[in-house]
Amino acid sequence: MIIATTIQEVRDQVRAWRREGLTVGLVPTMGYLHEGHASLIRASAAACDRTVVSVFVNPTQFGPNEDLESYPRDFARDSALCEATGADLVFHPEVIEMYSHPADTFVEILSEMPKQLCGRTRPIHFRGVCTVVSKLFNIVLPDKAFFGEKDAQQLAIIRHMVRDMSYGIEIVGCPIVREADGLAISSRNTYLNPQERQAALCLSRSIALGKQMVQEGERDAAKVLQAMTEVLEKEPLARIDYVQAVDGISMEPVSELSQDVLVAMAVYIGKTRLIDNFSVRL
Ligand code: AMP
Repeated sequence: MIIATTIQEVRDQVRAWRREGLTVGLVPTMGYLHEGHASLIRASAAACDRTVVSVFVNPTQFGPNEDLESYPRDFARDSALCEATGADLVFHPEVIEMYSHPADTFVEILSEMPKQLCGRTRPIHFRGVCTVVSKLFNIVLPDKAFFGEKDAQQLAIIRHMVRDMSYGIEIVGCPIVREADGLAISSRNTYLNPQERQAALCLSRSIALGKQMVQEGERDAAKVLQAMTEVLEKEPLARIDYVQAVDGISMEPVSELSQDVLVAMAVYIGKTRLIDNFSVRL
């Protein structure tokens, strides 16, 4: 497995693969890799001849009071996980390699879509995500790129950007990977102390209840969201950011739980902001 720190090294290697007629998959990550990331890498390795994993904590997607400095990092462990799961190249640039000048060119969706859900409390987040993912697409020129449904709004935004900007790249969404007790795996789970780790189970409990109500035939979003909110409110360490039902493509709020509606939440457990979601499948 190759470890590249410069854009030029990645371009040269991908060109060499292309000359051999090989297909290339890209898995963008911020590192501190876990089973969720591993599932994306395995999906890429199964679908493409070569897999590139990027490990880059992207400063332009963090707001001023967010956790850019404290975001967990362990590149030695990350590269071992990449190699074990079938990556062929890990791109691990310094910030200066990706943003050699103070960034003043951004890729931004101008509709309400990135302002909904997480965009309400993280106003510049998706502009940073679209910008860095565009740069990675331009650097790697992959055939397919793999993203987790855990970040469902991000996945919808990337699909929208790919369509609007005519990237000829297939976007593959991969299911949420959970711990044995239900908690959606996240690099940010490492911030939780043992008591908070236990409290964090209210998210997956609330998601499971919502899913069950839909399976049993409930289609009224307000009723399902109310029941889900009550589960979260019973947990003293939890503070709700949002619990919402939105159209799976536009991210506009909906009142009826029809096919592909996204039911999503963000909840603070202590100081740690966690997200979880499910999509309505009828
Ligand atoms: P991150 O490193 O948190 O930016 O995540 C990189 C990619 O991994 C994103 O596409 C995430 O949606 C995906 N991902 C993170 N956690 C999970 C999970 N528990 N299950 C599936 N995909 C995940």
